[in-house]
This record gives sequence, C-alpha cells and structure tokens, in this order.
Amino acid sequence: MSKAAVIGAGTMGNGIAHVFAQQGWEVALIDVSAEALEKGLATIRSNLDRQVKKGSLAADQPALILGRIQADRQLEAAAGAEIVVEAATERPTLKFEIFRALDGTCGSGTILASNTSSISITEIAAQTRCPELVIGMHFMNPVPVMQLVEVIRGHATSDATVQQTLAVARALGKTPVEVNDYPGFVANRVLLPMINEAIFAVMEGVATPEAVDTVMKLGMAHPMGPLALADFIGLDVCLAILEVMHQGLGDPKYRPCPLLRKMVAAGELGRKSGKGFYRY
Ligand code: NAD
Repeated sequence: MSKAAVIGAGTMGNGIAHVFAQQGWEVALIDVSAEALEKGLATIRSNLDRQVKKGSLAADQPALILGRIQADRQLEAAAGAEIVVEAATERPTLKFEIFRALDGTCGSGTILASNTSSISITEIAAQTRCPELVIGMHFMNPVPVMQLVEVIRGHATSDATVQQTLAVARALGKTPVEVNDYPGFVANRVLLPMINEAIFAVMEGVATPEAVDTVMKLGMAHPMGPLALADFIGLDVCLAILEVMHQGLGDPKYRPCPLLRKMVAAGELGRKSGKGFYRY
C-alpha cells in the first residue's frame, strides 16, 4: 500500500489527507498542534459523513478511510512516504525549516511537494539537497470537492518528479495542470488581479460590492462574485499574495488596492473575522 504524509492539518491539510485516504493511501497527518490534529480529523469525519448522506460514499467507508490516517506531531512520521505534501502555515521561514528537516527524514526518492499559494517552489527546493524531488502541488479549497491541482515545476524539478506528481494527482481523482514557477503561478496570477480590480471599482465608487458581484455572476457566469470570493479566501491572504506578485514580478499592475490595505489594517478580513465586503 502507498503511503503519503501531509504536513499541517488545517483547512487544506485535512482536505488533502481526506482525498489520499479515500483513494486507499496510508496517510501520516502531521501538525505541531494537537488541537489542530483533533480539529482536522473531526472535519474529515464530518465531510465523509456528508458524502455518505449525499450517496457518493458507501456507509462502511468513513471508518475505513479514517483508519488509514495516523495523526502525529513529529515530522519523523513522514518516513517511508512516497510523497509528502506540505500544507503548513504560509510563512517562508517556516516552510524552509520544514523542507530542511524533511530532507533528512525522508527516504531517497520521496517527492517533497508544497501546497503553497505564493512562495517560490525554487526557493523552497533550494533548502534541500534534493531540489529535483521538490515540486508544487497546489490544491484548491475545499480539497475534496475541487477538481484542479496546479502542479508547479521549480527551476530544478526533474521530469520524473513532474510525471510522478501528475500521476498521483490523477490517482486522487483530480485534474492536474502543469505550470512553471513564477510568482502567483497561474491560478492566483489571473484571479488576484481580477479581485484587486473589483476592489478598485468599489473604492472609486463605480459600484457597490453587491453590484460588482452581480455583474460578474450574471454577466460572466462566475459561480461567486470576486468580492464574495475575496471574503472567502481572506482579505489578508489576498493582500499577501498581491504583495508577492507585485514584488516578485516588479510590475505596478499588481499594486494592491489601497482599500484592500485599509480593510486588512482595520481587521476586516472577510468571513473569518465576520466582516469584509459583506457581513457574516
Ligand atoms: P491553516 O492555518 O488552516 O493550517 C495551517 C496548519 O499548519 C495549522 O494547523 C498549523 O498548526 C500547522 N503548522 C504550523 N507550523 C507547522 C509545522 N512546523 N509543522 C506542522 N504543522 C505546522 O492554513 P491553510 O489555509 O490550510 O493553508 C495551508 C497552506 O495551503 C498554505 O501554504 C496556503 O497558502 C495554502 N493554500 C491555502 C488555500 C486556502 O484556501 N486556505 C488554498 C490553496 C493553498
């Protein structure tokens, strides 16, 4: 049986562990926080139960799937994994430290993937002695539902690592898309400027948030307006990704909207804080 390790049991990590275990992999789910592990497992359990209620999963499956997930607080639990997917907090120094440690923990040949939204895969890879095995595996939220995995090839990622990662994503029932390592990859490079422009439109009084979102939903057939989506992602996260693109690509077209900065400074972060462009 194949083994995967997932680092970080938060929003993304528990979803990634869920899909690996559902496809029959043994999973080491690793987080420094016991509370995060407990919460992550509870989320997986309730998402599996929802799948049973919807009729997309047999009633005996949740127990079997959960039985394949071992929660652990030590990185050493990743030993023996074919692939490690790191989904810890989005902070460069933290990820660099994790990859330096993984380098020593994992066997030779283990693929070291990061789910980062905005940190350079090439820089993460440079922390290890095996940059050819390091790759981006950018899952979308919510992981069990969303089809896409953006697979990001770092400067030194080998063809074999890319092919194996594409195969793993397909084995998880996902559709991988291969892209190269530049700030924002493709998903955020195209999405964030649209969100940013929607915020400029609100700041300049072109239209209300409701009006902007309605135009994009009804006019462009987007399932969700850009401002509702920004609230869902978190306005602080949107700002951080725009900063990475602005700095990394050096092009003023990625300049974060001053209204976005102001809302983040005021603690209006979207859904998670109860207020963003909408109230929750
Ligand atoms: P989160 O805050 O929900 O979870 C992060 C988890 O990492 C926490 O449980 C924390 O305890 C754990 N952690 C911190 N330091 C650790 C360490 N040294 N070892 C092990 N675990 C550690 O964050 P999230 O939203 O799940 O994001 C995780 C990653 O996924 C980030 O890189 C983020 O950019 C990326 N991402 C997020 C989304 C999203 O919509 N939330 C989408 C795509 C990618």
